[in-house]
Amino acid sequence: MTEESAALYVVPTPLGNLADLTRRAEEILRTVPWVAAEDTRHSGPLLKQLGAQARTIPAHQHNEHEAAARIVEKLQAGEAVALISDAGTPGISDPGARIVAAVRAAGYKIIPLPGPCAATTALSASGLLDEHFLFYGFLPSKGGQRRQALEELRELSSALVFYEAPHRVLETVEDMATVLGDRTLVIARELTKLFESIHSLPLAEGLAWLREDSNRQRGEFVLMLSGAPANADSGEGERILKMLLAEGLPVKQAAKLAAQITGMAKNALYDLALALKSAG
Ligand code: SAM
Repeated sequence: MTEESAALYVVPTPLGNLADLTRRAEEILRTVPWVAAEDTRHSGPLLKQLGAQARTIPAHQHNEHEAAARIVEKLQAGEAVALISDAGTPGISDPGARIVAAVRAAGYKIIPLPGPCAATTALSASGLLDEHFLFYGFLPSKGGQRRQALEELRELSSALVFYEAPHRVLETVEDMATVLGDRTLVIARELTKLFESIHSLPLAEGLAWLREDSNRQRGEFVLMLSGAPANADSGEGERILKMLLAEGLPVKQAAKLAAQITGMAKNALYDLALALKSAG
């Protein structure tokens, strides 16, 4: 394979297991004169191990415009650049999109390599049957905003794929159960690493399962949920609940009345009423 000069290669790197670097990625990283890396110190050992001679350009979320300008300069000089992030695919909940846009706007070729990505790796082992999926990435870190974001996803029939940090996984799973009601939750942790685990369970049991063993809250997470059940007409339930809550009814009573009016499950309406109330 010959490397094209004056092109930007988007190169996925392993999530944890170094053997997951593809042969093509290895060859590109070994032969390009420049590697734009999210964290040059983090990527240093990988490049060294490959025997790569490339010089590095820092390209993180706080300097993407500047990094893009430097990369375009190298391309103008006829030199190829490989873009990598700390782990997985650049541009997927990682810096890269602005660089790609700037390089394309400057008229240079972008060559993406397929490779490791936590979302697709997790999804492939989820066993979720939904025909479509929506990759959300990270939910907001603040509770109110997170619940609001989940509200907006509640009606979607597609499976939902999230990234989450270990210190937020409990509160996020709790919010998911409150806002989204009952569904299947798949927790994929430490993919490709020593303590890899993939566990599928009802969302309502997720919090208790995580709490049962603190090791289950460690490491890197992909959280996946099945989509909204096809027949849940929670739009009507929500409309009625909003009216009842606006009239000042307590959550329990509003849920009971809404269940009588719509024929929907009281528990689901109760959870929804709580979420509506906390979202203000
Ligand atoms: N660009 C990366 C990709 O292609 O997957 C994602 C980068 S994002 C900053 C990091 C998040 O990805 C982690 O917080 C976690 O949610 C997820 N992730 C990365 N590596 C993982 C792994 N080995 N197992 C589970 N999730 C992982």
